[in-house]
Amino acid sequence: MSDRVKKVKVGINGYGTIGKRAATAIGAQEDMEVVGVTKTRPTYEATVANDLGIPLYVPDDAAIETFRKAGIKVAGTIKELYKKVDIMIDCTPGDVAESYKKEYTDAGIKAIFQGGEDHSLTGISFNASANYKESWGAQFSRVVSCNTTGLIRTLYPLDKKFKIKEVFATLIRRSADPNDSKKGPINAIEPSLSIPTHHGPDVQSIMPWLNIQTMAVKVPTTLMHLHTVTVKLEKDITTEDVITLWKKTPRVRLVRGKSGVKSTAQIMELARDTGRSRGDMYEIIVWEDGVKVVGRTLYYYQAVHQESDVIPEIVDCIRSMCKLEEDATASVKRTDKAMGI
Ligand code: NAD
Repeated sequence: MSDRVKKVKVGINGYGTIGKRAATAIGAQEDMEVVGVTKTRPTYEATVANDLGIPLYVPDDAAIETFRKAGIKVAGTIKELYKKVDIMIDCTPGDVAESYKKEYTDAGIKAIFQGGEDHSLTGISFNASANYKESWGAQFSRVVSCNTTGLIRTLYPLDKKFKIKEVFATLIRRSADPNDSKKGPINAIEPSLSIPTHHGPDVQSIMPWLNIQTMAVKVPTTLMHLHTVTVKLEKDITTEDVITLWKKTPRVRLVRGKSGVKSTAQIMELARDTGRSRGDMYEIIVWEDGVKVVGRTLYYYQAVHQESDVIPEIVDCIRSMCKLEEDATASVKRTDKAMGI
């Protein structure tokens, strides 16, 4: 794209785990740019935004004063940011976004929400490969959570090609993100007692026809989530058919335990070794030697890097909502090329 072509102007509300990664990914694209991010408190992340030259916006005039006293440069209030953007990426913590939705509506701008919000907030949820066109031109959409994105990445192509009868998945969830020293457990395994968990219905916000049940347990790790998935299929297929399909599926990456990738620890090392930004692994990782079809039942394990798998989806969602690229496959290719996926 030539420099003379107008880039979509993006603001990011909440410069935390997802917000800062979204900023980096959007900044790498040729058809969109980050014009500002918000922080509510003058933390080290605000200083980092200053150091990176990303304009920083705060809730109100009182906050401008607080940030200035802390030696942090501020470009203005969030209301001033609204006037500069075509779209806001809401990366505030779960359940905070409702009040912001009203502000975005009043400002007449588009917004993308994250998986911590309910589907009912927007009525449209997004996954690039499964339903890119549903967000076409929309004012609001929601990129589903890291776990839901992970399940859809492997299940959608399976269903398309072989037709799924039923899915049962157990999600072994990380207890906190690596930068979080508040959450736990740090020495326990905690089951989600509300069965089935909300993850199945969240997958159905994109694949409403899918018969899926989920359970979940939280474990003391920060690196990744791991899913064990059992899929009953309508057709006779082989283990090789499934592996061949996923080898061709964007943002699904096969690894082998036999090559030394035995756990989430080596997956993160692989991301760091290959020079990924922040050591992120955007793809859903499937252990090739852990895929097995018995009769019409498929069993597999997959790992989800919770901090980053949704990031390329946010970029594609911007393209769909701002009508930058009609073809989902073309958008995915552009995003992935720019992000080094
Ligand atoms: P985070 O806590 O790391 O970041 C949230 C940011 O929002 C922080 O910078 C915080 O200071 C700021 N903030 C807090 N209250 C605010 C308010 N009222 N107004 C404006 N900013 C405010 O959270 P996160 O992990 O980046 O999660 C953001 C969203 O992404 C949530 O909906 C979450 O469910 C979803 N998500 C998180 C992950 C993950 O594993 N971290 C994965 C996928 C989706």
